[in-house]
Amino acid sequence: MRPLYSEQQEMLAATAREFAEKELAPRAAEVDEAEKFPVEQFKGLAQLGFTGLTVDENYGGSGGDYRDMMAVLEEIGAACGTTSTVLITHVSLGSQTINQFGTDEQKKRWIPALATGEKIAAFALTEPQTGSDALGLTTTMTEDGDDYVLNGTKLFITNAGVADVFTVFVNQDRSAGYRGISAIVMEKGTPGFSINPQHGKMGMRGCETAELVFDNCRVPKENLLGEPGGGYRIALKILDSSRIMIAAQCLGLGKGALDAALEYSRQRKAFGSAIGKKQAIQFMLADMATELDAARLLTFRAASLYDAGMPHSAEAAMAKVYASEAAGRIADRALQIHGGTGYFRPSVVERIYRDQRVTEIYEGTSEIQRLVISRELLGDIPD
Ligand SMILES: Cc1cc2nc3c(=O)[nH]c(=O)nc-3n(C[C@H](O)[C@H](O)[C@H](O)COP(=O)(O)OP(=O)(O)OC[C@H]3O[C@@H](n4cnc5c(N)ncnc54)[C@H](O)[C@@H]3O)c2cc1C
Repeated sequence: MRPLYSEQQEMLAATAREFAEKELAPRAAEVDEAEKFPVEQFKGLAQLGFTGLTVDENYGGSGGDYRDMMAVLEEIGAACGTTSTVLITHVSLGSQTINQFGTDEQKKRWIPALATGEKIAAFALTEPQTGSDALGLTTTMTEDGDDYVLNGTKLFITNAGVADVFTVFVNQDRSAGYRGISAIVMEKGTPGFSINPQHGKMGMRGCETAELVFDNCRVPKENLLGEPGGGYRIALKILDSSRIMIAAQCLGLGKGALDAALEYSRQRKAFGSAIGKKQAIQFMLADMATELDAARLLTFRAASLYDAGMPHSAEAAMAKVYASEAAGRIADRALQIHGGTGYFRPSVVERIYRDQRVTEIYEGTSEIQRLVISRELLGDIPD
């Protein structure tokens, strides 16, 4: 029971659940095993309007708010972790950066095809030498006539193997601190832009993660998002809201693990009765459900603050760090309840156990979330 949600959000969740059970869950093991982007599943999300959820209706988006997206992501994440990561990256990172910071012209150019899922978005911040410390970006961007020229490398970029539109963060002036960082939109096929697949991920294996290389890559100046030097603020703002969606994804991972553990506890027998009759198992299930609900409340609060246009940075960080780590504990207990069966592929809990791990790393590690929270608690402490 989720009395948090409005009638509309319950309807969205029901639609997402039906799609997830029918189209995502049966193919999730195959997506994981083959490390292949879920093309048909993405098309299905597009048909339901989910690829444009939260995106401005004036530019072809589906509208809706972050609580709507949260309701959908919990259902998608419960069935297929990869598909939930693909959707978050496409909507809350890639499309939202243009939706929120693009000019009217830029939005008209890129948003309609992204919202309908005809094109796929990616968000490129991380580099080989810097992830958490975005001020350390070394990808350069210099002016040359009507163009900018980019040189550098990005790493671990989700959706990159299939994406058409990339928001790339670059350093225009290393001496200017955060004011040196800019954001620019890059399209697949731009000369000097290459994409090298990165295989061998532990989880979320169908996301087509890749390295991006820019070798004297020319991009028209009109592709710049916001002001020159405004990129750091854009990245922080987008990550602040998108990490609420990572928390929602973790609700899905936790729900998937809990559902599997409940079913197994009812049917698996040991010492003459179903293991669900043993108090040790019952208590594990109770703790899993309690943590999942606590995570849901934190996530709903963060999403509500965001939707109301209120400050939400610390609350988003709390939701992300708690929901991701709770999903880890839930997946661990679900695997324990499955005994040896849970340890072998293609077990649902084995896949969730692996998929969950990165939620403590991407869009800001757990340590970075704790920094955000503690900074808000302590304020500026004089030396
Ligand atoms: C599967 C996957 C998909 C990803 N997708 C994307 C994507 O689409 N786009 C993108 O731009 N990036 C993406 N990333 C990158 C991800 O966001 C970074 O890996 C993450 O931000 C951490 O950066 P790092 O790996 O460089 O670790 P580092 O920043 O080098 O951190 C290493 C360790 O030091 C800790 N640490 C760092 N600074 C501090 C500090 N000040 N205080 C305490 N501890 C600290 C970290 O918490 C971590 O434990 C993805 C990563 C993965 C694994």
